Amino acid sequence: MTRSFLGWPAFPEAAEREVGNRQLRENVRRATHTIRGKRAVLAAERPDWEALRDAAAGIKDQVLANLESHLLQVEEKVTAAGGTVHWARDAAEANRIVTDLVRATGEREIVKVKSMLTEEIGLDAALEAAGINARETDLAATIVQLGDDLPSHVVVPALHRNRTEIRDIFVREMGRHGRPAPEGLTDEPAELAEAARLHLREKFLGAKVAVSGANFLVAETGTLVVVESEGNGRMCLTLADTLISVVGIEKTVPSWQDLEVFLQLLARNATGERMAPYTSTWTGLGPSKGADGDGPQTFHLVLVDNGRTRALADPTGRQALRCIRCGACMNICPVYERTGGHAYGSVYPGPIGAILNPLLKGLDDPQTASLPYASTLCGACNEVCPVRIRFTDVLLDLRAQVADGGKHPVERAALGAVGGVMEHQAAWKAAVKSIGLVGPLLLPRKIRLPGPLGGWTDSRTVPAIPRESFRTWWKRTEGDAK
Ligand code: SF4
Repeated sequence: MTRSFLGWPAFPEAAEREVGNRQLRENVRRATHTIRGKRAVLAAERPDWEALRDAAAGIKDQVLANLESHLLQVEEKVTAAGGTVHWARDAAEANRIVTDLVRATGEREIVKVKSMLTEEIGLDAALEAAGINARETDLAATIVQLGDDLPSHVVVPALHRNRTEIRDIFVREMGRHGRPAPEGLTDEPAELAEAARLHLREKFLGAKVAVSGANFLVAETGTLVVVESEGNGRMCLTLADTLISVVGIEKTVPSWQDLEVFLQLLARNATGERMAPYTSTWTGLGPSKGADGDGPQTFHLVLVDNGRTRALADPTGRQALRCIRCGACMNICPVYERTGGHAYGSVYPGPIGAILNPLLKGLDDPQTASLPYASTLCGACNEVCPVRIRFTDVLLDLRAQVADGGKHPVERAALGAVGGVMEHQAAWKAAVKSIGLVGPLLLPRKIRLPGPLGGWTDSRTVPAIPRESFRTWWKRTEGDAK
């Protein structure tokens, strides 16, 4: 049975479990530091880097403001090019559409191009329940699938694994799903890549149906774009007779000129490369077999909402829909570095997961309501995001929504009381003065508050309280406190 994040515990509980795993922390630290170092060098190479970020954010905001008309244009162009467009409101509808389409072909084994959206909607499990075996073809996604594991990063789903663990998975599992790992396989990267290549080649050559996502959807021509490093996507897109692309509605860009901006940003920001090794684009059907011979003879595009219009309705949070899934916010995040991706209980971990999951799913569930707190608010993610998402603004807004919704009544009451005092200058001055007088005497540096507040004080030290406030100090030294 395909594993999923369904029923995952809230972030504090899941993170506590993950930070106890030294091997995982070491794997994540090494991988994120390597990628972010390469990204920093490549971003600094471009004198127009900040202008590109501005342009990307502007294009995405324009798309989000006019999403309906762009999507209708996509539908018109894809249909004119011989494809069929399907609309899915949620995960269940998307899974039903894809399952029915695969069933109609009569195939029982299909290949997949790595797609976070199909992970988000649990497509593999839905296909499995219908007796259809979907095999991943991206190397990292293959490692996750063979290891009966879950993705922990949007670009490198097996980032939490080191090469010895990967070798063990290959030796143990490859034979159960096709061509076994070669005899005497070591953990040398070249040998591991060759083992994966041989195992996957059988899948590519045998598959009649492929499922992909897309990084971008160019509205003016109805063209889908997949950006990848290994060429497995190109194989799936060109060899299969039937191609089913499952794409989030926010992936739209208006024109090829707009696409150019994102292609300059994505690879540099994601993997520290000037260009991705493979950028595949396709519009509707491929040429007829027997002519050029490449490309699908049947093409379906499934456009998926699954909470995106809910996120769009949030005035502060809607900027999360600009995300192009480069993973840079994960690679820079001090929380992600220590917990890894599984602690976030979603295929979208790290800073983008902390805001996108609550926006897509709502804050009623304790798991999603815990995510806006999975941040130190250091703002490092703000600095690396190619589409200028202001994570700290969204996190604070979501925390306010959680508090307003009664999920944290103690925090809400405390903030209400503080707010009441701050609104009245005399009360505020008196409070500050009395804290300065009695605080240092009464408050030890390490305290434990009772009940649910204990979780807060367990991991914090009370800062030393100065004997006089800034206002008092100013008045004493400068003579005039306003
Ligand atoms: S939120 Fe920004 S930095 Fe994070 S994955 Fe998306 S585009 Fe990249």
